[in-house]
Amino acid sequence: MNVIHQKIESSSMGNEDDSESSISVTSLISLLKMCTVFDVGGGRSYSISKLEHHPGLNLPMKLWLCVYYKISSWLVPAFKQLVALPTESIPYADLDKIPAKILHASIHVQSHTRNHRLMLAALPPPIIEGFCCITPLSCAAEWEKAWKDGPAEMFRHPDIFYPGCEILSFLESVEMDLVCSSCRDASVANVKDSGCLLMEEGFIEEQISDLLLWFNKQ
Ligand SMILES: [Zn+2]
Repeated sequence: MNVIHQKIESSSMGNEDDSESSISVTSLISLLKMCTVFDVGGGRSYSISKLEHHPGLNLPMKLWLCVYYKISSWLVPAFKQLVALPTESIPYADLDKIPAKILHASIHVQSHTRNHRLMLAALPPPIIEGFCCITPLSCAAEWEKAWKDGPAEMFRHPDIFYPGCEILSFLESVEMDLVCSSCRDASVANVKDSGCLLMEEGFIEEQISDLLLWFNKQ
């Protein structure tokens, strides 16, 4: 503990050791516990700052510490990290460490997002017939084909996760030679205005609002 005490002093004097992992996670958690119990603000802040990006601290344990020691600044970024991680990739023993409320919220977002993406992949948004269009039938058929060859394939890609905002950028820039420009512009604008490609972030924010209310009541 003397080494840690020297590091806290060194840190408070601006001579911080850059090495995130120079103190073990176990020691830092002990320090966090002790400083929380005895209300030592400097030591608590020091241990939290060193644990935050410590390579030895995994995400489930970080979420547990976040709730148990009321580290509010960790909640949102750690939850976003969890949502981006396939639940099946987390070892079963580690799942137990994630507070149930947070785990359920993450699974809810992932499930909601997956269903939403599958629906968008299966059902192309309707074509909006352009004011100057003289070939509405072929434009409609080609719009559907362009959607299935582009955004639908991106939504269903087995290895790469394309966020909705990237798919929207793709849609705005992709050439559709067989859809007249009038229909193309109106249809892309309709997709953009509907917000259907940007709802994933909303699913996360909705759960974050709920989690913050719950966290603040703990
Ligand atoms: Zn057209």
